[in-house]
Amino acid sequence: MSVFGGYKKTISEGDLVLAWITRDNIQPIIVTPGKIFNNRFGSYHHEDMLNLRYGSQMLSKTGHGFIHLLHPTPELWTLSLPHRTQILYTPDIAFVTSMLALKPGSKMIESGTGSGSFTHALVRTVGGTGKVWTYEYHERRFEAAKEEFIEHGMLGDGLPLTITHRDVCKEGFDIEGETLDAHAAFLDLPAPWEAIPHLSRVISKKRQIRLCCFSPCIEQVQRTLAALRANGWSDLQMFEIVHRNWEARQTLITPLSSAIDRLREVRDKRRLPPGEARKDLPKKRVKEGEEGYDWRAVSVGEKEVKGHTSYLTFAVMAPGEHEEVGGEGEDVEEHAG
Ligand code: SAM
Repeated sequence: MSVFGGYKKTISEGDLVLAWITRDNIQPIIVTPGKIFNNRFGSYHHEDMLNLRYGSQMLSKTGHGFIHLLHPTPELWTLSLPHRTQILYTPDIAFVTSMLALKPGSKMIESGTGSGSFTHALVRTVGGTGKVWTYEYHERRFEAAKEEFIEHGMLGDGLPLTITHRDVCKEGFDIEGETLDAHAAFLDLPAPWEAIPHLSRVISKKRQIRLCCFSPCIEQVQRTLAALRANGWSDLQMFEIVHRNWEARQTLITPLSSAIDRLREVRDKRRLPPGEARKDLPKKRVKEGEEGYDWRAVSVGEKEVKGHTSYLTFAVMAPGEHEEVGGEGEDVEEHAG
């Protein structure tokens, strides 16, 4: 079973552990006795990780550092994976998963595999009863993704994932000896309009099919829309995810009397004769949530809103529409606007 599909309590030899160093720095480690994980805050011996509970804080043998040893999840993997391409992040993944109505048992086509960020989430969502067919045409990326999927227990006999080395725009999605009856598809390709005509051969004819194309440029969206219309897809919708992190924090409730005291303090300071400095009492630093003070739970939004990633174009194929295959749809583009 995929290490991302379940949860175990303690760390054993050979486990994938995600070492949380800071919010922006999470490092994958395969626990190998004899090896040492080093960072600028200290050294962490793999054998000392054995039998610790996932989530434990581990102190460094040298220096003053510590790390947290986390159980892998697709969300943490997305933040720690080795980048071989641009990847999908969790806000987009969550939205696409819900719009494609993916659930345990869903059968899903994905191309290109890229760094496998979305693939990890897909495999967990569809579970042991579902299926993910992913395609990548870049040979080294295909090999790296395949190796990673095997290491993570996602690829192998009886497991729900198949990865194929293929240019889907030229050769489509068919797999010899297998009947593909996908319920949904996701295309993260430079030219999705070239792959769209091939989908009708591999999607289920008995149900409504949902498709999402992920493209950074609006011109790509326009060509995609033309191909979707030409190939019998309907309910076309386009979204852009603009996400912003919100933090749960506590703010100190200052009583009115202390605000008045503070104003008096400032006023008195102004009244001092020129050149005579007032000796301020050192102010105590209060730690957030410290006992003995009044706190209110608040949410604090990030100042910066994350920039544009891509446009998400969604479409639906109703049962019985699959036969109207119309190519890449250039002719439709003329009267589409
Ligand atoms: N969604 C992936 C993730 O979350 O990690 C990232 C996909 S990456 C942006 C796009 C990938 O599509 C690249 O690895 C590229 O090699 C692959 N690709 C581009 N055109 C392709 C084609 N015609 N057939 C198969 N793969 C293709």
